[in-house]
Amino acid sequence: MNISILGLNDNRYIRPLQLIGNLFFEECSVKLDKHEGADVVISFHYEVSEEINMSVQLTTSEEEVYTANYRKNLKAFETEKEFFNQLKYAASHVYLTVLQDWTGIVQKWGILTGIRPTKLYHRHMMSGSSKEDAHQALKKDYLISDEKINLMEKIVARQLTAIPDLYDLKKEVSIYIGIPFCPTKCAYCTFPAYAIGGKQGRVDSFLAGLHYEIRHMGEWLKENDIKVTTVYYGGGTPTSITAEEMDLLYEEMYESFPDVSHIREITVEAGRPDTITADKLNVLKKWNIDRISINPQSYTQETLKAIGRHHTVEETIDKFHLARSMGMNNINMDLIIGLPNEGTTEFAHSLNETKQLLPESLTVHTLSFKRASEMTKNRQKYKVADREEAERMMNMAEEWTADHHYEPYYLYRQKNILGNLENVGYALPKQESLYNIMIMEEMQTIIGIGCGAASKFIHPETGKITHFANPKDPKSYNESFVEYTDKKIAMLNELFNIEAKSI
Ligand code: SF4
Repeated sequence: MNISILGLNDNRYIRPLQLIGNLFFEECSVKLDKHEGADVVISFHYEVSEEINMSVQLTTSEEEVYTANYRKNLKAFETEKEFFNQLKYAASHVYLTVLQDWTGIVQKWGILTGIRPTKLYHRHMMSGSSKEDAHQALKKDYLISDEKINLMEKIVARQLTAIPDLYDLKKEVSIYIGIPFCPTKCAYCTFPAYAIGGKQGRVDSFLAGLHYEIRHMGEWLKENDIKVTTVYYGGGTPTSITAEEMDLLYEEMYESFPDVSHIREITVEAGRPDTITADKLNVLKKWNIDRISINPQSYTQETLKAIGRHHTVEETIDKFHLARSMGMNNINMDLIIGLPNEGTTEFAHSLNETKQLLPESLTVHTLSFKRASEMTKNRQKYKVADREEAERMMNMAEEWTADHHYEPYYLYRQKNILGNLENVGYALPKQESLYNIMIMEEMQTIIGIGCGAASKFIHPETGKITHFANPKDPKSYNESFVEYTDKKIAMLNELFNIEAKSI
């Protein structure tokens, strides 16, 4: 679909209009002029006084015409960017309206194409709005459907029950520890994940760097009396290293981080069942790891094969029972909607199997085509569900979880996600992952340690977010972990207004 945009001459409009266009059309190209071969011309007109008055006309090649108008009070602004953002929202509003009218497709998330819709709801809560006002404002300003706003409302309420002091944790931090190895690489994956087989030298050097980072970051936290709220081991698959390596790593964490016994939650992703052994579970128990993930993704064997997960369905079930029998009492499982060749039948089967296990939490992802994944590069090889079927599966997940007493407690969206849907974390009451809430709602700094770990520095007063990423591949990490640790500590000193120690 080639869309010609008239009346907006600033290139900063292209990206948001392109992202919204992608919600409607597989291949969408947006250009800010009248060009040959345009399938549709969309002309904007706006006036700015005390309010922004934005109108639009969409004209198809068959001369069909659709129009929309939106007026919004102009909010006080300090920078040109803040002013432009208001125009951008108004333009997105009318643009989405005419595209919906023309195509007949209703976007339940309205003009939102970002990752964290619930942040908007929290903003209303923090400014003292009532639930009703928040609901009306989200509907009016962003064209979000009642169904999705109700979901946001439920999630935010759950989060505030799980973490009543969620808005007051800005002076603490959470820590993400990235271990970039997996037994094999899954087809949809873009995480830093390297097949571990036969590369022990590389693993050893990586772990030496990781120990260094944990030790130095721990020193900094202790010296400055900064508490740790949650710790999350992800990757990769953190259980792809040996039981002895895991043992030494957690010992390092206990020695280095402040007051580990009071950290509210420590999670280890044991995502791939083929990495779980009784020895490793013993190590997790020994160090009081609160929560693990064992991820089936699907209970259909052919699907696992098609996506490059070299483990069996039985292995997932067996490892779940093994973990349970060894006392792990907070287990998360992930399912993915829309894996190749899967529809409602396969998804119903996955839900039925989940019923036999009843993990404490179930995260339901929707397949997203990330640019760098094997699946996206060879998209024609994979047959995936259409928008309607993906939505039916999402509804099945909603009903199934409600019937089994799970409640949604976090959600996030991704670009190029099947059916413009979302990923939702469900949990039994009091079993929510606190780290997942912290990372999604961006209420405190997350320090990323290890390969591919992204730090997110959130200013305790202004809320300004600064991103900082560690190198993604083990080789670069091994060459530069000292430098990266120093850089992070310098950024943390500035963030928390701490005078750096003279060396
Ligand atoms: S197990 Fe997870 S991190 Fe590893 S390759 Fe598969 S999706 Fe990526």
